[in-house]
Amino acid sequence: MRCDEVALLLPEAVDGNQPVPLLVQRHIESCLRCQAELARYRRMLRSLQLLRTQFLEPAPGLLTATLAAIEEAGERRAIRSLLSSRRLAYAGAIGGALAAAGATATALLVHRARRRGALAH
Ligand SMILES: [Zn+2]
Repeated sequence: MRCDEVALLLPEAVDGNQPVPLLVQRHIESCLRCQAELARYRRMLRSLQLLRTQFLEPAPGLLTATLAAIEEAGERRAIRSLLSSRRLAYAGAIGGALAAAGATATALLVHRARRRGALAH
């Protein structure tokens, strides 16, 4: 039996679900190259099994730290956008509109008061 033929059967040999043909077993026992290959397959399978059963446990406090970092980043961004000139212009426009509305209201009140005063006379 040749090594490349055995190599094709190695995954099954590692899996252990199917009995390895005696010819293959004999070749592996006598061939260092195929033994090394088999060992490599076994290692790979073991790490795959580890990956399957390993769960990443978040370290205690990680959630709090993450939330704090997000909050901090959000605040920083809010401050930065408040400081940006466009936002300031926008705020100024709102302020101006409010001032205009206030002025209009004042003018209306004055106008009404004057009219009332005129009627009283
Ligand atoms: Zn071999």
